[in-house]
Amino acid sequence: MLGTEKHKALYNYKLTKAYAQQLDKEDPLNNYKKLFHIPKNKKGEPLIYMTGNSLGLQPKATNSYVNQELQDWAQLGVEGHFEAKNPWLSYHELLTDNMAHVVGAKPSEVIVMNTLTTNLHLMMVSFYKPTPKRYKILIESDAFPSDKYAVESQLRHHGYNDKEGLVLWKPRPNENLLRHEDLEIILKEQGEEIALIMVGGVNYYTGQFLNLKHITALGHAHGCTVGFDCAHGAGNVPLNLHESGADFAVWCTYKYLNAGPGSLGGCFVHERHGNNKALNRFTGWWSHNKKTRFNMRGEYDQLPGAEGWQLSNPPILSMAAIKASLDIFNQVGIDQLVIKSRKLTLYFEFLLEQFTNDTIQIITPKIPEERGCQLSIQVNDANKSLHKKLTQNGIITDWREPNVIRCAPVPLYNTYLDIFNMVEILKKILSSN
Ligand SMILES: *Cc1c(COP(=O)(O)O)cnc(C)c1O
Repeated sequence: MLGTEKHKALYNYKLTKAYAQQLDKEDPLNNYKKLFHIPKNKKGEPLIYMTGNSLGLQPKATNSYVNQELQDWAQLGVEGHFEAKNPWLSYHELLTDNMAHVVGAKPSEVIVMNTLTTNLHLMMVSFYKPTPKRYKILIESDAFPSDKYAVESQLRHHGYNDKEGLVLWKPRPNENLLRHEDLEIILKEQGEEIALIMVGGVNYYTGQFLNLKHITALGHAHGCTVGFDCAHGAGNVPLNLHESGADFAVWCTYKYLNAGPGSLGGCFVHERHGNNKALNRFTGWWSHNKKTRFNMRGEYDQLPGAEGWQLSNPPILSMAAIKASLDIFNQVGIDQLVIKSRKLTLYFEFLLEQFTNDTIQIITPKIPEERGCQLSIQVNDANKSLHKKLTQNGIITDWREPNVIRCAPVPLYNTYLDIFNMVEILKKILSSN
């Protein structure tokens, strides 16, 4: 609690609309909104888009980045692999430095490839190595469904029962958030049976940003490998993946990274594993030595670093959209983004405090360092009609059963005025019930 009181005192927020407008004026990042297409309603009025945690908005530049590759393909055909403005053969290398910066890793530890759940499986091929004594996988009880299905299927794949082999890290009764001390208790009791800890770095439902470094240290002390799904973290919070010491991490690029529906995922492999040829992995020609890849006859010669987990030649059109977005992140810098993000979300929280405790509760952690921009708002006695009314009023939020709206004011394209207007409309809707 202290965290927010301290910060709010620092910013001395006020309740007026004029104050929101003043904050926007003073915002050093307020020019970035112009770089994005803001979805509109049928009358052509811009919506208040609070679901960048689900599908980020399209940068206006994406069109020209993708078109460049379409043009090169039209004019050059197969020669585009070498002759395109950005040769396709090494296109992914144009993404690496910026992506490494976004997730706090060394460039050799990061690769953009495949999609999220696929990468999660590939990482488990290397980092989930069950033995008869140590075969369990620990995951948070409220994990994103795809992650849960993925780890369950890995258990089955190795011949284990997917119920008995799954250890759930749960919030305590009547609580919503995970406590690190409960993980310690689980590890004390069953640590020797747990092969892999695989949790969401930022929980998709509550918005809780876990302490990756602490969890990694705990897991390693008990002999477990540790990986994170950072789908809700990448582009949202300072992940510092290298520093965390995690064995691996995966994320997608269509949420906070604004690279478009179904775009490619990212993958982190800590440098201590980068050259470990003893690690089992699934391979393909794209992780083969770049110099001899097209000889097509020799023995497999694996690339060092995270690149050594690639399988296929990647979809350049998707990578072009990722490049367009990462170029924006590179301009702003993740540190500047986090500063604005915390201020924006604290302001949101400040405005939501006008509601009484028995109307709404924010289930996201109060301490800014323990969350990203998302606030998950539990609305008492609400049902999905609330979400519908918000949408009718031009506010795009995300509804989670039974009664939670998730709202993510994204520092690149949401404004203080967006938040002010959203809360005003929420007030109107709730008071008319
Ligand atoms: C969004 C998300 C996914 C989606 O997986 P895809 O393979 O990209 O469809 C999986 N896990 C988490 C934690 C997510 O937030």
